[in-house]
Amino acid sequence: MINVPKGTKDVLPSESFKWHYVEKAAAKTAELFGLKEIRTPVFEHTELFLRGVGETTDIVNKEMYTFTDKGGRSVTLKPEGTAGVARCFIENALFNAPLPLKTYYITPVFRYEKPQSGRLREHHQFGVEIFGSYSAKTDAEVIMIAKTLFDTLGLKNLELNINNIGCPKCRAGYNAALKKYFADRIDGMCKSCKERLEKNPLRILDCKEEQCKKAVSGAPSVSDYLCDDCLAHRKDLEDTLDLLGVEYKVNPNIVRGLDYYTGTVFEFISKDIGAQGTVCGGGRYNNLVEEVGGKSVPAVGFGMGLERLILTLEGLGLMPAHDGGVKIYLASIGDKAQKEVLKLTYELRKHGISADCDCMDRSVKAQMKYADKTAAEYTAVIGDDEIEAAAAELKNMANGSVSRVAFKDITRFLKDN
Ligand code: ATP
Ligand code: MG
Repeated sequence: MINVPKGTKDVLPSESFKWHYVEKAAAKTAELFGLKEIRTPVFEHTELFLRGVGETTDIVNKEMYTFTDKGGRSVTLKPEGTAGVARCFIENALFNAPLPLKTYYITPVFRYEKPQSGRLREHHQFGVEIFGSYSAKTDAEVIMIAKTLFDTLGLKNLELNINNIGCPKCRAGYNAALKKYFADRIDGMCKSCKERLEKNPLRILDCKEEQCKKAVSGAPSVSDYLCDDCLAHRKDLEDTLDLLGVEYKVNPNIVRGLDYYTGTVFEFISKDIGAQGTVCGGGRYNNLVEEVGGKSVPAVGFGMGLERLILTLEGLGLMPAHDGGVKIYLASIGDKAQKEVLKLTYELRKHGISADCDCMDRSVKAQMKYADKTAAEYTAVIGDDEIEAAAAELKNMANGSVSRVAFKDITRFLKDN
């Protein structure tokens, strides 16, 4: 037997409604805020991610699905959504579009990781990117999109953690302070952190290894190193969130796993799904567009893990139980009725009513069993008598009530009920 690749998952027909549920809610929320969908390819030139995501990140170092195609080019399955959108922004000169340019996407993401609950090799993200605004009001807007979606889905206990990791100007001083602090403690820390110390000490703050967390707890705080501009930006964001009545925690250890972040970073953390609790992570990346070859355009966005979102909803009993079956199943007795039912079924579908009937010459008992198991809302059995009268008894499967309806009125009846 050929199995699904490790770290990937099928979505079965009986589960796809969960995906529709969150994807529709996400798209609707984004559109409420004036965002338009953007779609970029599933693979890009590897160089885009080397330059965009950064060579010192775990993603680029260890997690990318990179291969050489038949034309000898190095391509990579997208390990995150932002770099491709930034590439598209530059290539299509979208800086000439009215700014801010507000976009969202729902995309598969590929990372070679150790699979566990909430951590897959193919996962899916709802992402948002807003280009062209330096304002902290835009950071707040991005945060509000995630928050509004969580509210819509009934998720109340996600904790919003925010931080400001400084701009290149103030980051240098902070990096130096971190290097100095961790240099004395590095012996007891993990292998990755030993590598991070020289190349990207900020990333040590994000390490999930127990032996490193202890050292992190006493590390210098970024707040002491921010320049006046970053301090003012941070205050503006906090004031805006206060104004909008959003609760948040300032958490100096939120640094995010990608190199492109500048200034604001944030995460929404779920307490209900165990260790992989970050459902949504985002922030500002004012240098990314320039980094991947465009002019300097500020941007801010987030990526939300849909598997983790679904796990959280299920854990809290907030996922609808199922999405039901067709509106009506038309069972038939005999050849003549089968033909009539086939025509009626297509007629109903043409009028926008989901309908189904038998195509396998099964007994009426088998047909009714199928209707029941697939959760049809109404059923009707059509035989010679019904054809003669041009009317059928429609049974409401939930409460058992029966209504006699003329064939020509079935569409109307089902639209009204
Ligand atoms: P983590 O710290 O959990 O590895 P990350 O910082 O790598 O997350 P991002 O790159 O910010 O994550 O991705 C945005 C969101 O996508 C995460 O907050 C999470 O919800 C989800 N996500 C990331 N990696 C995975 C994965 N391997 N499997 C499932 N969901 C993931
Ligand atoms: Mg990760």
